[in-house]
Amino acid sequence: MKGMRSLSHTLDILRSSGIRITPQRLAVYESIAVLDHPAADDIYENLRGVYPAMSVATVYNTVERLVQEGLVHVIAINGKRRYDFRLEHHDHLLCQQCHRLEDFPDDLPPLGNANSREVSADDGMWAINRQTVIWEGICPKCMNGRP
Ligand SMILES: [Zn+2]
Ligand SMILES: [Zn+2]
Repeated sequence: MKGMRSLSHTLDILRSSGIRITPQRLAVYESIAVLDHPAADDIYENLRGVYPAMSVATVYNTVERLVQEGLVHVIAINGKRRYDFRLEHHDHLLCQQCHRLEDFPDDLPPLGNANSREVSADDGMWAINRQTVIWEGICPKCMNGRP
């Protein structure tokens, strides 16, 4: 699976963040890598066979903790939070039909360094800390009528 990290690498990342490593946290983090930009629901579906006692709320809290620790990025799509374990700058492809979200395949040059850039709005300045481009369209599966 693209972007899948080895377990030892995952453990290193979690350890360096200083958060307590529990099997559930590990499983949630691994799920984000395997599922390719999942929402909390998707992670829950993926894990509930293995951890029947784990609730959607637990999954959500765990993921948001990983976000707080800077281990996972959030991409808000249509009001839904999707999670990305790749932390370096990259663009995304979004299918408008099935909402599949994946990494843009080519290494396009970044549009510019958005770090600390300020953008003015009607009610004041935005503090920009990240820039991400989402290319929207229809994925091949949807084009061929097999979602
Ligand atoms: Zn699609
Ligand atoms: Zn991504």
